[in-house]
Amino acid sequence: MSVCENYRAVEEKVENACKRAGRSRQEVTLIAVSKTKPVSMIEELLPLGVRDFGENKVQELTAKEEVLPKDIRWHMIGHLQRNKVKYVIDKACLIHSVDSLRLAQEISKEAVKHDLVMPVLVEVNVAGEESKFGVSVEEAPSLVENIAKLPGIQVNGLMTIAPYVEDPEENRSVFRNLRKLSVDIREKNFDNVTMNVLSMGMTGDYEVAIEEGATHVRVGTGIFGERNYNIEE
Ligand SMILES: *Cc1c(COP(=O)(O)O)cnc(C)c1O
Repeated sequence: MSVCENYRAVEEKVENACKRAGRSRQEVTLIAVSKTKPVSMIEELLPLGVRDFGENKVQELTAKEEVLPKDIRWHMIGHLQRNKVKYVIDKACLIHSVDSLRLAQEISKEAVKHDLVMPVLVEVNVAGEESKFGVSVEEAPSLVENIAKLPGIQVNGLMTIAPYVEDPEENRSVFRNLRKLSVDIREKNFDNVTMNVLSMGMTGDYEVAIEEGATHVRVGTGIFGERNYNIEE
């Protein structure tokens, strides 16, 4: 199957999941995760109107941004080091992976320098997996509250990377818990915080995530095929 055929198949599943959940298709942004994949594959999707792409490495995001149309929305979905914030601050439309106040402070500093307000999500390690980045469910509200006091940065919601599972149903409770957490945080009415974005769901489980309220799903393999990690590293 071609990249376009894959994309259409995923799009259809997104539409069906929205229908099952009684949600409008417009509530869900399908992010095509293009990490490790060449510019040519991204270009194949542009005629379909696809403009939301996800990358997990700063250098790869900026290299692709430089050569591709400027109306593409680049989502920074990977772990971000503070010393690299300056390279993505005016390139990414949304940073999904803020997991410390120190990182948020750096984003704030660079955003102020560029006279912009950077929308971010706080990454939550809902399942408590040791191998994953992200703050715990318990730590999340105070981190959100503290980030919200900084200039040049706005918390728009939460993100999680669910565990790898054979059966996507196993992750339903993870998605449900992230949604619950966002409702809890919204009820605290922190200034400068909206909880409109829930970035959750990947190739294996995005349909369940949509049923549980995802506003952004991040699909790589399902659109671009398997990644070759020998080339990546
Ligand atoms: C790679 C990646 C994805 C996409 O994963 P697939 O299983 O290939 O869909 C989604 N989110 C993050 C944070 C990623 O790093």
